[in-house]
Amino acid sequence: MNVLVTGGAGYIGSHTCVELLQAGHRVIIADNLSNASADVPERIAVIAGAAPVFYQVDVRDKDALREIFRAYAIDSVIHFAGFKAVGESCREPLKYYRNNIDSTLTLLEVMGEFGCKTIVFSSSATVYGPNNPVPYREDMPANVATNPYGWTKLMIEQILRDQASADPEFRAVLLRYFNPIGAHPTGLLGDDPNGIPNNLMPYVARVAAGILPKLTVFGGDYDTPDGTCLRDYLHVVDLAKGHLAAIDYAASHPGAEAINLGTGSGVSVLELVHAFTRATGREVPYVIGPRRDGDLPMVWADAGKAKALLGWTAEKTLEEMCRDSWSFASKAGNR
Ligand code: NAD
Ligand code: UDP
Repeated sequence: MNVLVTGGAGYIGSHTCVELLQAGHRVIIADNLSNASADVPERIAVIAGAAPVFYQVDVRDKDALREIFRAYAIDSVIHFAGFKAVGESCREPLKYYRNNIDSTLTLLEVMGEFGCKTIVFSSSATVYGPNNPVPYREDMPANVATNPYGWTKLMIEQILRDQASADPEFRAVLLRYFNPIGAHPTGLLGDDPNGIPNNLMPYVARVAAGILPKLTVFGGDYDTPDGTCLRDYLHVVDLAKGHLAAIDYAASHPGAEAINLGTGSGVSVLELVHAFTRATGREVPYVIGPRRDGDLPMVWADAGKAKALLGWTAEKTLEEMCRDSWSFASKAGNR
């Protein structure tokens, strides 16, 4: 298949491109490099043994997208492009609504012009909001977000459901990711946020590397076994493989289907820190600090639907996630 991957130079997109190429698909990346390095397509090619086609374009640029669809008969689209920082979305909501919604609308319009009807979208566990009990199941209400980033995910899910209602041939899979961590085992691709990381694993890796002095654990007094929050961490390579299963599924299933991608179990902040040290031999000094606003004590997936519909389950262990994160973060030239 010819697969257009928007945001394909980013963290999850780049790993997905590797899996797509290795499975024999032709991969066309559209990424404006607003949050990715220019050498990522080359790194993808080194790992996969086949090169993606790369367009440095903004997905909101309709003419540029049309050019891609004219050059390649696109069978399906995986739509990763968007901004993803929760805190920044609270400070600059319009930037998030403009980029995330506009890129999706433009993409859908151009897909429509060229008769492309299959899309896999990067949604998020954040759509379950603060009111559902764990484990999160796809049939639970997902209609309240707690920040503008989360609202963009909810709105885009709705846009895709509406499009599927309007066009009986339209096929969308809304993948609700839990907490992707880890990196490609080659150490060539990984999560490399600019500035001080907001997410736990890149922060832990920078503490382990001595770049940051210590980790502050956000809250040690939650009603959880060790007092710290539980999350469903999954390896980014497992997550990438979920996209392969999703485009196969989408190709023959009209409608809009939400599917969780997670392991189905919760790991605490302290468990992750200890697993990191076991896997890498690196100490991660930490202090317990105050809770972070908006954090939920417990988040994990019911992973049953992904297994039933996609035949997908996460396979890699927490130790592998830690080891691969570290080999990427500690490699010279990755930062
Ligand atoms: P990322 O920032 O590494 O990748 C996004 C890519 O999109 C970047 O390469 C960026 O340059 C590109 N991009 C952004 N706006 C664009 C535009 N208008 N036109 C073209 N390219 C554009 O993020 P990621 O972690 O790989 O996440 C990918 C998707 O998955 C995002 O939609 C994100 O919201 C979603 N998601 C991520 C997580 C996570 O924890 N990483 C969790 C749930 C959902
Ligand atoms: N966390 C932490 N210190 C940090 C960053 C994160 O204790 O410097 C905790 C955070 O409170 C949450 C977990 O690690 O319980 C995962 O946070 P992340 O931001 O990576 O993911 P999310 O909160 O979006 O699930």
